[in-house]
Amino acid sequence: TYVVVENCIKCKYMDCVEVCPVDCFYEGENMLVIHPDECIDCGVCEPECPAEAIKPDTETGLEKWLQLNLDMSQNWPNV
Ligand code: SF4
Repeated sequence: TYVVVENCIKCKYMDCVEVCPVDCFYEGENMLVIHPDECIDCGVCEPECPAEAIKPDTETGLEKWLQLNLDMSQNWPNV
């Protein structure tokens, strides 16, 4: 899965949402998250993000953000 990290906070671009083929982005007040179980790992959102806030979960040190993406995607509305 791909993970949204802190650079997303207060970014107003939604380019990632436009390109996601499975609509697995969820939106909170300050940022977006990706539902880890819905993401199909296609990778098309990563280069679209102007804030470089989308990372593959294979990168190290993202455990905290992966958990946040999971938790928040169950609480925030789909976009
Ligand atoms: Fe959507 Fe693909 Fe990005 Fe996953 S990697 S969030 S499926 S665009």
